Amino acid sequence: MRPALLDSLFAPLSTLPGVGPKNAKLFDRLFGRADGARVLDLLFHLPFNVLDRRSRPLIRDAVPDAIATLRVRVVEHRAPAPNRRGPFRVLVEDDTGDIELVFFLNNFEWVKGKLPVGAQRWVSGRLELFDGHLQMIHPDKVMDDAEFERMPAVEPVYGLTEGLYPRNVQKAAQAARGKLPALPEWLGAEALGRFDGLAFAAALKRLHQPETPGDVEPTSAAFRRVAYDELLAGQLALLMVRARMRELGGRAQISEGRLAGLVLGALPYALTAAQARSVAEIRADLALPKRMIRLLQGDVGAGKTVIALLAMCDAVEAGRQAALMAPTEILARQHFERLGALAGAAGLRLELFTGRDTTAQRRDKLARLVSGEIDIAVGTHALFQDSVAFRDLGLAVVDEQHRFGVHQRLALSAKGEAADLLVMTATPIPRSLVLTYFGDMDVSVLDEKPPGRSPIDTRVIPLERLEDVVAGIGRALAGGARAYWVCPLVEESEELDVAAAEERADALREFFGAAVGLIHGRMKGAEKDAAMERFQRGETQVLVATTVIEVGVDVPEATVMVIEHAERFGLAQLHQLRGRVGRGAGRSTCLLLYKGPLGETGRARLEILRQTEDGFRIAEEDLRLRGEGDVLGAKQSGAPGFRLARIEVHGELLRAARAEAEAVVAADERLAAPEHRALRLLLWLFERDAAVKLLEAG
Ligand code: ADP
Ligand code: MG
Repeated sequence: MRPALLDSLFAPLSTLPGVGPKNAKLFDRLFGRADGARVLDLLFHLPFNVLDRRSRPLIRDAVPDAIATLRVRVVEHRAPAPNRRGPFRVLVEDDTGDIELVFFLNNFEWVKGKLPVGAQRWVSGRLELFDGHLQMIHPDKVMDDAEFERMPAVEPVYGLTEGLYPRNVQKAAQAARGKLPALPEWLGAEALGRFDGLAFAAALKRLHQPETPGDVEPTSAAFRRVAYDELLAGQLALLMVRARMRELGGRAQISEGRLAGLVLGALPYALTAAQARSVAEIRADLALPKRMIRLLQGDVGAGKTVIALLAMCDAVEAGRQAALMAPTEILARQHFERLGALAGAAGLRLELFTGRDTTAQRRDKLARLVSGEIDIAVGTHALFQDSVAFRDLGLAVVDEQHRFGVHQRLALSAKGEAADLLVMTATPIPRSLVLTYFGDMDVSVLDEKPPGRSPIDTRVIPLERLEDVVAGIGRALAGGARAYWVCPLVEESEELDVAAAEERADALREFFGAAVGLIHGRMKGAEKDAAMERFQRGETQVLVATTVIEVGVDVPEATVMVIEHAERFGLAQLHQLRGRVGRGAGRSTCLLLYKGPLGETGRARLEILRQTEDGFRIAEEDLRLRGEGDVLGAKQSGAPGFRLARIEVHGELLRAARAEAEAVVAADERLAAPEHRALRLLLWLFERDAAVKLLEAG
């Protein structure tokens, strides 16, 4: 149960005065919370800028192109001549000069009411020079003395969504501030000192009610404080989960690598040095009586699959079973087929588990799994289900980790009695992020690709040249090539994605007829497989796709990748997509079609892809250009994304938070000690649910 102290923060936003049903909906949209935004969401929606209204010059001293707040007398109303269009002007003065306030409005009466002749008013807004005279077009604020007293001198500026106005958010944020309870301090004196002694609630208040523009900068004490808290919550959660997983114990799985040797002997290639190193690291882990929780990180095409197989061989040789889990049916099937060919060499018995098995099939497979007639189970998340029981699961391998969260890691490892866990990700994670996303794991890195790959010729082309591109594809197809054509990503709408892909497929069929295939996320599993297989066999030569092909699909004959509206994709995602080609011996091409005009950042992003195929460099650059939020597509995948911390700015805080979390968890992994009570609140506050569950388990 969430501590009652936090109730006011988790209350629906609509409980705030001034947030009616209509605005509540808009806030839901702003925060991407279909289930209803809460007070907390608004408090974590930090201002990204300020309007600095502190300058209060006399008119004589006022300068253009700056925000000024002036105390003035209203001298004269200057309406446009009858039957003429034009702004309504109000001449105002102080003892040192005068300026005009300019209103482009039809409702003059409103202006006259706000600024009656002879009245003293405060006006605040940006001054501009026009014809040698200072003027203020549409003052942001027109206030009497009492209103001026209440004006924030430094006004926070918030991200908005259509229909929501700055004053809506400001008012709501002000009300939300009032809901912040006094929370017990969870930081020690030393940590607190790094943030000028600011408490969490005080820091949040400062951010929403800045005293200086610097207060809202990510480097301010207030910002750093809340960022640190968030990072600390994240690291604590990861380490608690890790401790829990380790606690479940581990068993030594000792093998001499005999089965692995048989597989190696059947491979048409030798392992790269990086692969061999990773295999050795894993083998050493398996042999230890403690539980392995290891991440295998390697760019697309680095050759992770075979490492998984070799590790599974060791587990089987040690008398256990192994499971390989993939994020999609297509991938599970592909793994099953690829591995099946090699596993035969070692006499391993593989079986495929997907959501598509009939009841009878499934019952049969489950029976063989529990009796131990199956050595290696390959599947989707169907492998998680409670009905799945192994005779003795020794090793669980999870492919393409970024689609799985900490929860799933826990669920899977609960399957085997102390099964070792190997997680593989193709997302090249910038070093600074590894800790935040995978801080509960040891890491093996494949920093070398198998030899003999020719570089991919990547070109950045405006969409206007679509016809040339189609003609070029035509020539390539005539030469026997196979091409992927990936369709634009439409923000948060799979339906629109699909529509775009269907439209593109139709258009391409006019040129290439039946050689055009289509695959998208709305198709049934069997339809997807069929489309993929036709492309694999070369029955179709162009595969129009939404991003369902992003992860892992391997068709070595495909040598052309066209990505439409490349500017809408994340860099890491583009890199993944491009990784679908360049897998065989043939020279491959990637065409990034963009819709101009591109901003400077947009241009720079695509340019990086043109320059390098090094996934790590791309990830680092992406992080630099975009900030942490989007690099891993964290929002979609439910990975522990951050709402406040910016890894590119707060990297040093992350290391400090890690160190603190390590110390805490080493001493008291369930946060049971009285001095760690407040840290429990922190986990609740940042909704580290997996860790919170552990707290509840006691
Ligand atoms: P990923 O790391 O993206 O999962 P895969 O395991 O699918 O990569 O490997 C990509 C391709 O490289 C496969 O066709 C695989 O057979 C091949 N491959 C893997 N290791 C080597 C190697 N050491 N030498 C040559 N080819 C390799
Ligand atoms: Mg793979």
